[in-house]
Amino acid sequence: MKLSDIVKGMDKTELLYLKETYAKTFQGRVLRVEFEGKKNVYLVLDKTIFHPKGGGQPTDKGHLSEQNCEVNIKKALYVGGVVVHWGRTLQGRISEGPVFGEIDWKRRYWYMKRHTAGHLLDHCLTVLTGKPVETTESWLENPCYVGYAGSPPSASCLESAEEMANEMISKDAAVNIESISYKGLLEIAPDAPNIYRLPVLETYRIVTIEGCNPIPCAGTHLKNIGEIGRLTIKKIETHGSDFRVYYDVQ
Ligand SMILES: [Zn+2]
Repeated sequence: MKLSDIVKGMDKTELLYLKETYAKTFQGRVLRVEFEGKKNVYLVLDKTIFHPKGGGQPTDKGHLSEQNCEVNIKKALYVGGVVVHWGRTLQGRISEGPVFGEIDWKRRYWYMKRHTAGHLLDHCLTVLTGKPVETTESWLENPCYVGYAGSPPSASCLESAEEMANEMISKDAAVNIESISYKGLLEIAPDAPNIYRLPVLETYRIVTIEGCNPIPCAGTHLKNIGEIGRLTIKKIETHGSDFRVYYDVQ
């Protein structure tokens, strides 16, 4: 079955992971059930804490269950404002109605650390190279990296970036989130690393690490960069006219 058919006529899913980033469980309601064979099933809910694959962030995994039914959720997909959960039935046969959900928190928290550290890396490279960086891509699975436009910085610049990032991590800077219009976005974040990759929307979610420039981002972030522990730059690779910085967190 096509995903576009599954989401047809559905209201947008309430994206709990944007507001309650540290929620590990939630209560929702299954609105649509589409089985694919006997065990595999697509589920649409009214709300979700499952972050779908997108923006360099891999899908959350976990479980959705109701009385005597349980589905192992292997991926969540974002289709026109609706999150579609796909998984394999472990017991029973899930149906429309109230449901309990739980994500694989260890996996998600690891991505939150890596993602927030990526923003910190953007900031440090911007400060040390003296010009705003432009991100082209990012990936949070192994090996984790951020891609940037242009020629790579020197080895000593990268060394300084790592040192600077860890200095900031040791000071426990808070990460603040707010909503803003497109006009407001251009005013407060004209040099954001991803500004040229953003779709035009009514409102943007702005993420600001204390001491850094604000950036629009719909990913999942830590509340405080102290939780990163330590950022390590692993290597740098040139890709055509761009470059990737591979890094990891503690
Ligand atoms: Zn982000």
